[in-house]
Amino acid sequence: MLISAAKLTQFAIQVFEAAGVNSNNAKLVGEHLVEANLKGHDSHGVGMIPAYINNIVTQLLTPNADARVIRDKGAVLVIDGQHGFGQVVGRQATALGIERAKQIGVACVGSRNNHHLGRIGAYGEQCAAAGMVSVHFVNVVGHNPAVSPWGGREPRMTTNPFCVVVPRPGTWPIVLDMATSAVALGKVRVAYNKGVDVPDGALIDHEGLPTNSPKVMFERPLGSLGPFGQHKGYGLAVMCELLGGGLAGEWTAQPEHPRGHNIVNHMFMLIVDPEAFGGLSTFQHEVQEMVKYLESTTPAKGFDKVQIPGEPEQNTMAARRRDGIEIDESSWQGIMRAASRVGIMASPV
Ligand code: NAD
Repeated sequence: MLISAAKLTQFAIQVFEAAGVNSNNAKLVGEHLVEANLKGHDSHGVGMIPAYINNIVTQLLTPNADARVIRDKGAVLVIDGQHGFGQVVGRQATALGIERAKQIGVACVGSRNNHHLGRIGAYGEQCAAAGMVSVHFVNVVGHNPAVSPWGGREPRMTTNPFCVVVPRPGTWPIVLDMATSAVALGKVRVAYNKGVDVPDGALIDHEGLPTNSPKVMFERPLGSLGPFGQHKGYGLAVMCELLGGGLAGEWTAQPEHPRGHNIVNHMFMLIVDPEAFGGLSTFQHEVQEMVKYLESTTPAKGFDKVQIPGEPEQNTMAARRRDGIEIDESSWQGIMRAASRVGIMASPV
């Protein structure tokens, strides 16, 4: 099914409002999800609506909660999202961090108890729009782990995203935004819904053997996702767990904590004002010249050009704004079932 971004956003907002979400929050969440679809991350787009509606109904997600500062110590802010929409309380925490970084050059923000934050790049882009560099370490808890440590065959963590964003005046920021698993779990869900295989090296079965079948994440006997980049991705995932979960959230994936159907993100965020270093313009000169140098690389066989992190999302967004967003049938049925739970029966297409 092909749908325009505008129509899809309007529908998402309508569904959230019907679930009791105030119009400001419904708009923020609807726009965030559709932007993830536009940028090619369908795993973090409107396909999340069923999980969000379910968590509102079961009171795991408090849809109109605001972020609350619980510790304010110079460069350090600890902010509790109170299980509100990540797209709302995570944005609020990021805005507070940006203000602090503007005042003193740096902010180190512990943003805890956010319901699913969605696409982490969105918070980096919020910092970049204010001229800030940012680094984000995030863990994911509230449900069973899905990612095995390198060398193991039982899951111990989830897809723990890591993100770094660098602003560029007049053009899109450089965005490295990635799951530390070989692929995002939501991408395995999309592959399962479509009935297609996932790429090599992404999944292992219950015996720890490589498999391409997304079924191992949804049907018994259960397998798990592997980390990207073998021991290196595993190491970065551990640091997301310890900084995002341990330091910011005081809630890692270790088994003392509750596990059910919740999706909770804790985010450790460093926000840096380049003016506090050698100044924005000196930094921008280096960024611009380095990007040119990277782009001048002769492409390897099978590649059209060398891209900059964040560029694939810009290209996909341009194409999807023009052509519309494709949503697979099974995901759409899930979204319509969720909509019907809150009294909306009519599909927008
Ligand atoms: P991905 O593998 O598609 O992309 C990862 C990064 O690599 C991006 O920054 C992208 O711009 C860059 N990239 C891709 N191809 C490139 C190329 N050829 N040259 C240069 N750079 C390139 O992303 P992913 O790991 O599947 O993650 C998808 C999304 O899932 C992210 O937005 C992430 O924040 C989100 N996520 C969220 C959670 C959560 O709990 N909230 C958990 C996991 C992932």
